Order: sequence, then C-alpha cells, then structure tokens
Amino acid sequence: MQALTVFKDRVICPDTREEHPLIEGLSLSKFADIVLRWSNYGDYLLRAHRMALHKSSDYDGSPFEDFYQIRYNVDNCYTISDDPYISITFESTFDSDYDYTAMASRSTTTAYKVGTALKPQETKFKIYRAMLRRREGDAEVWFQHEVLRLQRILDDLDAATTSLNLWAASDINMRVFCPTTGCRSYQSPAIIPPSQLLTYSNAGLSLDNLKERLKCKICGAQCCNIKAA
Ligand SMILES: [Zn+2]
Repeated sequence: MQALTVFKDRVICPDTREEHPLIEGLSLSKFADIVLRWSNYGDYLLRAHRMALHKSSDYDGSPFEDFYQIRYNVDNCYTISDDPYISITFESTFDSDYDYTAMASRSTTTAYKVGTALKPQETKFKIYRAMLRRREGDAEVWFQHEVLRLQRILDDLDAATTSLNLWAASDINMRVFCPTTGCRSYQSPAIIPPSQLLTYSNAGLSLDNLKERLKCKICGAQCCNIKAA
C-alpha cells in the first residue's frame, strides 16, 4: 500500500477502497499525541528538523473540522510539502471523550457573501482520521517507523526541557511569549539561547524561578509562557 487512511477501528486503502484491520503502531491516539505535543516545540522542530505542522480549519459545516498536516523539508509552515503526506483531521464533539478544546465560531460566510462573525464558543475536538501517503515503497512500514521516530524526538524534547540545567545543556533555545494582546514583542520574538540559560542555572535558578522573573522587554508584563525554539 502506498496510501492508507486510519480510522478509529479500521484502515482503508483510498486507492482500492479495501478495508483492513488496524496496523500495529498506527493508531489514532498516537497521531493525536504527536499533534498535541508538537505545539510546545514547533519552532525547534522547524529549526532543527525542518518539519512544520500546518493547521487549517473548516467551521462552515457540522461538525467543525481542524486539519493538521506535518510538512517535511520546509523552512516555514506555509511551504507546501506532499511527500510523505500526513494529514490528521479532528472533529468537534459533544462527547466527554475528546483530545483538546479550542475557541471556535461558526462561519456564515458563503461563496456569495461575507457572513457575520458569531461569538466563539469553547468547543471540544476529537481525532477522526489520519491520511497517510508515500510515493515510493510501502507506506505502512514507512509510517510505522516514522511515528516511532516522531515520538522519540518529542520524548527527548520533553526530557530536555523538564529542568533548567538539562535545558541549558541541550541545543534548544527558549522562546518567551508576552501575554499582552497586541504587544509589539510579537515582531521580535524573545529568544534565550542555552548559553544564557546556563548562566541562570549556574546562579541556582530553577525553571519555575526563571519563569517568575521573565518580563516582556516592550511592555513589562510577566511572561510565564515559554516554548522550545
Ligand atoms: Zn509585551
């Protein structure tokens, strides 16, 4: 198989419409886990691995849909890359079993007129399917390895950013986000390199100590939202 679509309880080959049992290592929960953890490390994964997670949404119909595509060999998340192709769809749900919540509002825009924006509501999303395609070789085998590789990269990032001294010993920058809406800091992201983190670590600071001390250079707000970069 060069392409497969993974659902909760079965796999469909989109080229032949044949149905197959689930494939070991390619469950929806693994794809949801990769997407959810990616957001903490997006800048780093782009810089170090040239991989990006591109998100788009369709809130016209019911259910709402969020689409995530993992892109390879790119310099930003807007560059198209379609081989290997991984597209993961989440759908809105009222069920208690969900993967994440997001503020979403129904779009009333049609092809003929621009609609009015409705007030965003907190909406639950649950993974619905993962579409996988590879031009050469056996997609099943390739994606089994790829899922393991992505999870290992994320596990290593989790481990390297649990404490300030581990983070300072890594090659991972720390990006600090200002919480103030409209703050100009967005134009020049605050990046702390590991060499600077080492200075803080040697001064006896923990990760939590450092977070308490981080202030936006532009507006002075306290910045407790940090990510790997
Ligand atoms: Zn600010």
